[in-house]
Amino acid sequence: MAELLQVIEVEKHFGGVMAVHGMSLAIEAGTIVGLIGPNGAGKSTLINTINGVYQPDSGQIYLGGQRIDGLPPYKVAHMGVGRTFQVPRVFRRLTVLENMVTPMIHRGGLGLGDRRRAMELLEFVGLADKAHQYAGELSGGQQKLLEFARAVMAEPRLILMDEPFNGVHPVIKEQLIESIRQVNATQGTSILIASHDTPVIAELCSRTIVMHLGEKFLEGPTREVLNDERVVDIYLGAPAHAA
Ligand code: ADP
Ligand code: MG
Repeated sequence: MAELLQVIEVEKHFGGVMAVHGMSLAIEAGTIVGLIGPNGAGKSTLINTINGVYQPDSGQIYLGGQRIDGLPPYKVAHMGVGRTFQVPRVFRRLTVLENMVTPMIHRGGLGLGDRRRAMELLEFVGLADKAHQYAGELSGGQQKLLEFARAVMAEPRLILMDEPFNGVHPVIKEQLIESIRQVNATQGTSILIASHDTPVIAELCSRTIVMHLGEKFLEGPTREVLNDERVVDIYLGAPAHAA
């Protein structure tokens, strides 16, 4: 079975709000998949449910055939799921390099090669010259690059990215796009990208899933999905019905 992640009939509600409703999806190993949909569609809630921030009310989530729903985020991370946040979460009072090795410290200590690998990854995302600055001194976009590099440091099988390109300077955005592409190509890491930036989704993602009102509305090859008039309709707020 080539499916790395399987989400089966997941439900998550907050009080009376059904944020994710009977959502199923599968991500094949080695693919970059887009997750789009209007504001409030449930994309962030789905990501938070996959990585263990939220427990689903029902449904199951499997990574490489092992059940991960119900596990806390650090265990999901240990099993190979990395993530980045819409608002980057770096340790502002640690240096960029120290931020890079925090996943290792959580895993029982720094290994001999970790510092060198951290520097290589910083070089790779274009932050090597900032290694000894406080992370809090980086721009928002640079913090997103750091978050991505730090996720890669833990050698995940899957990286979940929530709105990685929002408010990021175009030069940094190009760097981030290229870094995502390279990590996927060289490590075979699967990546799920929730984003409103449809040109970038078209550029990076072979397949795209559309969420609407907590449900999967449509899924398919990215270009087909983006050209589907029903998808245009839900962004414009028109009533729409998926086939
Ligand atoms: P998206 O990321 O697609 O914009 P979200 O997952 O953030 O959508 O939100 C889906 C729905 O769930 C929205 O109606 C939102 O208001 C609601 N929601 C999200 N998080 C919470 C929360 N922690 N408490 C209550 N309602 C929430
Ligand atoms: Mg969101």
